[in-house]
Amino acid sequence: MAEGDVLMADVDLAVIGAGLSACALASALRRKQAVDSLVILEAGRGPGGRCATRRRRDDALWRLDHGAPTLSFSGPPQGPLGALVDDLCDRGVLVPDAGCVVGLDGAGALVEPPAHPLLCGPRWRGQPTMAAVAETLLADAGEAVFTCFGERISTLRWHDGHWLLPGGWRARTLVLSGTLLAHPRSLAMLGWPDVPLRSAVAEGVDPSLDAALASIAVMTASVRWNLMLELPSVNAGLGTADSLPRQIWLTPEARDHCGVERLVVHPQSDGRLGLVVHGLDDGAAIRPDTQPDLLVHHERRLLAALPPLLGPWPALQAALPEARSLGVMRWGAAQPLDHALPRDLQWCPQARVGFCGDWIAGSGFGMAEGALQSALDLAEAMP
Ligand SMILES: Cc1cc2nc3c(=O)[nH]c(=O)nc-3n(C[C@H](O)[C@H](O)[C@H](O)COP(=O)(O)OP(=O)(O)OC[C@H]3O[C@@H](n4cnc5c(N)ncnc54)[C@H](O)[C@@H]3O)c2cc1C
Repeated sequence: MAEGDVLMADVDLAVIGAGLSACALASALRRKQAVDSLVILEAGRGPGGRCATRRRRDDALWRLDHGAPTLSFSGPPQGPLGALVDDLCDRGVLVPDAGCVVGLDGAGALVEPPAHPLLCGPRWRGQPTMAAVAETLLADAGEAVFTCFGERISTLRWHDGHWLLPGGWRARTLVLSGTLLAHPRSLAMLGWPDVPLRSAVAEGVDPSLDAALASIAVMTASVRWNLMLELPSVNAGLGTADSLPRQIWLTPEARDHCGVERLVVHPQSDGRLGLVVHGLDDGAAIRPDTQPDLLVHHERRLLAALPPLLGPWPALQAALPEARSLGVMRWGAAQPLDHALPRDLQWCPQARVGFCGDWIAGSGFGMAEGALQSALDLAEAMP
């Protein structure tokens, strides 16, 4: 097929993003035998999104869960979601998260973990790392799925009942698994001239899409700056990795004081430790021209905040001078719950656009449960 001078590759469905929700959607559609061909276009280097695992070119063994350290659920998953979790557990891709979670107060004392939706219900971990969950779901989706990694989509065109996408893809149906292409915040943050989905489909063409875009526009984003550190081998005097908690959550007072939500310890296969400091945002404007300085600012800030937080683990604290910073990763998530996209707007039939992700209304809003549930719901809603 040719569109202008560009050769087009036709697919039934194009999905933007390869996070948990997109990979679960692809797998569910395969089970439903609903699409013959599908392309997934993802800005990152591999699948997983905020449940991805960081690797290093200079270190073949290194694996760091630098976003979500677990899949959290508000309660025991039921129905199709329960079946999905059971299946992944049976195959050894998920294991119950037995990692110890502790709380840390403003005086540096160990306390009960704070009440938080991510800690209320059951949790599972990807095996051997979090990325395995999305990778497995993507593999389940089969060979008819094309994947393109490493390119952030910034333009969308809807022409003659088809979606035309960068890279020469032409799809009958489009699914967005993030809000980037539909939210005005992208204009400032990425320097885009317009909201791509709004520009692609004029107002009035699809009332569901108009309502969905209006709903997405009032969402705000919560930003995290995660500092990634390599610490020396636990054999070098830190005690065993098993004796360390997996997650150290700061109490609200300590969190507000330090600008840190939690520390996540990720033991490596060779005994070294990965440590992720989940840093809070301080509201500075994020734009293409400010982002490099903000990354440096948060790296310095979090490195300075860390030593007192490791007080209860003196060996870990003592190892800090040998820690190597692997930089900061910026994450964004749609907030708040009362601005979640209503589930009846997940599928917009006239424009043939769907939405999935942890920002769709439901009990798992803002967590892995919501990402997976939204994918199962969308797969049901799509004709
Ligand atoms: C620091 C952190 C800690 C967390 N901790 C927990 C936890 O303890 N428990 C829990 O359950 N959940 C946790 N979460 C939330 C959990 O990670 C998410 O709920 C889940 O991963 C969301 O999956 P998703 O598919 O909805 O979105 P995402 O993972 O964000 O996937 C969307 C994908 O789309 C891609 N994308 C977006 N726009 C474009 C574009 N224009 N072009 C190309 N690609 C694009 C993105 O790169 C991304 O890979 C945490 C999240 C973060 C950031």
